[in-house]
This record gives sequence, C-alpha cells and structure tokens, in this order.
Amino acid sequence: MAETFILRGNICYSESPRSLAVTEKGYLVCIEGRSAGVWKSLPEQYAGLPVTDYKDSLIVPGLVDLHLHAPQYTFRGMGMDLELLDWLNTRTFPEEAKYEDLEYAGKAYNIFAESMKKSATTRACIFATLHREATALLMDLMEDTGLVTMVGKVNMDRNCPDYLREESPERSAQETRAWLDGIAGRYRNTKPILTPRFIPTCSDELMRKLKEIQEEYRLPVQSHLSENKGEIAWVKELCPWAGYYGGAYDGFGLFGGEVKTIMAHCVWPEEAEKERMKEQGVYIAHCPQSNTNLSSGIAPVREYLDKGMNIGLGTDVAGGVGESIFRAMADAIQVSKLRWRLADETKKPLSVEEAFYLGTKGGGSFFGNVGSFEEGYELDAVVIDDRALKSPLPLSVRERLERIIYLSDERHIRAKYVAGARVFDMADDMSPAD
Ligand SMILES: [Zn+2]
Repeated sequence: MAETFILRGNICYSESPRSLAVTEKGYLVCIEGRSAGVWKSLPEQYAGLPVTDYKDSLIVPGLVDLHLHAPQYTFRGMGMDLELLDWLNTRTFPEEAKYEDLEYAGKAYNIFAESMKKSATTRACIFATLHREATALLMDLMEDTGLVTMVGKVNMDRNCPDYLREESPERSAQETRAWLDGIAGRYRNTKPILTPRFIPTCSDELMRKLKEIQEEYRLPVQSHLSENKGEIAWVKELCPWAGYYGGAYDGFGLFGGEVKTIMAHCVWPEEAEKERMKEQGVYIAHCPQSNTNLSSGIAPVREYLDKGMNIGLGTDVAGGVGESIFRAMADAIQVSKLRWRLADETKKPLSVEEAFYLGTKGGGSFFGNVGSFEEGYELDAVVIDDRALKSPLPLSVRERLERIIYLSDERHIRAKYVAGARVFDMADDMSPAD
C-alpha cells in the first residue's frame, strides 16, 4: 500500500537534463505514495510523520529500464561476437523457443524476477516471448517483485524459424487477445504492452490486426527501430511504401501520437524519421551497451536531447549483459565520447547529470510523473550505502553519485521503494513490506 513517511539521507535527483538537485542530510517526504518535496530542515507540518534515517547513505529516484528481454537473461554475457540478425538466429530464437515449456520458463523467469527485484530499477518495459502462458507467468512473477512494469507477449509471424513463429496473422492476433483477456484485472503493478518484435518479423496483415487490438484494449506499444544497417535495408525491401523504417510502424498507427510508444535503439535515424518521432512524442530507449556488443553503432543522443525528444535508457538484456541501469548511464557517457571524437566533434558527449537524467526522469516520464523527487512525483527511491567503496578522499555527494554510476555495483543497494511501497530494506529487522 502507498504510505506516508519520511526518508532522511543525502538526496539527489534530476530536475532537468542539466541540473542535479543535491540536498545533504535532507528530508524526503512521501505522502500517500507521492513526493511532497525535499527539505534541508523538516517543515513543521510534517513533524509527526515516521522518519527512516539512512544517515550518510545516498537516496536517488528508482531507475527506469525502458527496454529489456526477460527470456534472454539466461544467456547474458555470452555469444557477443555476432551482429544483430545472425545473433537473433544463432542465440536468441533457439533460447526463446524454450519458453513454450512452462517449467523451463518458471525456472528462468524466477531468476530474472529476483535479479530485477534486487537491482536499482523500479520501473521497466519488458519483452517476453510469443508464448502466452509463459508471458502470463512472467507477469505473475514481476507483480510479486513490487516493481511497476509493462510486459509484452511478442508477436512474430514471418522471417523467423518455424519453431518460433506464429502460424498466421490471425493466430497471432487470437493468441494476443487470449493473453490480454487471461490477465485482465489480475495485477496492480504489471500492465500489458503490445509488442510486435520488429518489422522484419511482422507481416502487414499482422500489424493491421495489432492496431485493432491496440485500439480495443487501449495499449501502449514497444518495438525496435533502426538498430542495425542490414536490418534497415531489409525493412526497406519489406515495406517499400514506408519511406523510412519508422514509417512502417507509423503506417499502421503504431508510432506515437495517441499511442504511447517506445522504440528501442534508433541508432541510424533518417532526418524524416527523427522529425516524425519528435512530432509524435515517440520514446527512444537508448541501449548503448547492446549497440556496442552487437556492433550496431552509436545513437545520436546529444541531438535527441537538444531537440527535446522523449528519451530514456534500456539495458536491452541480453544484447546488454546485465540489468544495471547505472551501468547503462556510464555506457551512454562513454559511447557518446567515442561518437564525439570519431564521428562528429560538434556534438558534445553526455555529462553525468545528463546520463543520470536519462536513467531516471527521462525514461520515467513514460510511466507518468516518475523518476524525480519533485513535488507530486510517485515516490520510487533507491537507498545506496557506499561505505564499502573506500577512499581516503573527502568526497562530495555528487562525486559519490558519479562513482556509483561508473562502478555500477548494485551490491550497495540498501533499500528500495516503489510508488511509496517498500520493496525491501536490507538493514531492517522487520520483514519486507507485504
Ligand atoms: Zn531489444
């Protein structure tokens, strides 16, 4: 249940991409699950509320992962010497086929859900597989974590192996409806999201049917866009009418506007694609580690930020090796430096402030007022005890945050709250919130 309480500690959050608010030994007030603000000394009106004093620990907003694949968690950190299309055929499709077996799915998804619970992530948009039952099982497990997530049963009816293909657009649509009807009303924190895998695996007829389902169930959409040059050329062959890759989603009404949409990657956008994404408010899930591992390229994030486009971070497990959004922040900074040096010296690399913004407030806005401690924001918080990261230097709170981002070591997470509900508190003798 959403609660009313106060957290005390060194509080950091983004106000904008360039501004990080830091309050040392401050008070973060949570009223019925939402932030009422951060103060250096506690206002009189809150004097009677219960306070949890985290002393010298850092308190930051929960991190947001806009893009990852739960079934791929099993092979994280393996098979990285391939590019996207070969990687899908060699690694991904054979593994995803196993989720037809619910026993295997249970084993694998339990490990995934447990890792997500312990991570600094409080919100995530997750791909499952095309299997309806295993997807519902994943949703059950995610609900138990206390995180707020959107989970999608994947649709794919062409250009994939027989063992992992829905036999027709009709069948794919039927399965999707059966999944949606089966999970309706079952969860508080777990929502369905429409998930055509990407244009190469979704026929035009399937996309038309998915639009009908989107309208009927009022669903948001997630997919992949302009990740790899071979993929982009293929989409041009498959949908010559579309003009550019994103036009293939847009043509079916699944590209922002009324339909909340996340597109992962956007590494090689055409000018018209960028303009349309901005116009439609399409969210970009920037996945720097995956784009490096699969040799896809480096997305023009500076340009996206300067244009005021909607953008957050994704781990893209298992294109990315793990679930840490702190790591994604460091990767985003590092690849932006390479892009600046090697490709375009007019576009400055990202700062720590900007990367932190992307992993909190930037992606969080997909979920509403999420990812900051400004007044009215849903209170997702992560408490980090970094005492084990010893240093003889006197460190400022901002330096400590930078260090946590670069070290990306989530063993130091002491407590986590989602929308005012405590997910866990390692130091607390009481059992975790039910
Ligand atoms: Zn992906």
